[in-house]
Amino acid sequence: MGIDPNYRTNRPVVKQENGVKVYGPIDPPKILGIHGTIVGVDFDLCIADGSCITACPVDVFHWTDTPGHPASEKKADPVNEQACIFCMACVNVCPVAAIDVKPP
Ligand code: SF4
Repeated sequence: MGIDPNYRTNRPVVKQENGVKVYGPIDPPKILGIHGTIVGVDFDLCIADGSCITACPVDVFHWTDTPGHPASEKKADPVNEQACIFCMACVNVCPVAAIDVKPP
């Protein structure tokens, strides 16, 4: 199962990190929540495949280190979500369906 497309209303915002909102629950380092609002990445699903980083034409994602997380020790963080042009390339290439994109 991939990211919950309704996480923006189903989950509470627990903090701001690297310029984007984090939707909980979180319990670091093992549970990290969903990062971003325009471009949301479920850090608990992300396996650091990197396809989204390669696919994105406007450099929305940067790697963030997440040592101790069971799925992967780095995540594609949507730090530049304001630049998104809604091409959906990242959504289509993610092998674990960890990304949801929604225009504001
Ligand atoms: S939808 Fe396109 S522009 Fe937006 S983050 Fe994904 S790949 Fe980048």
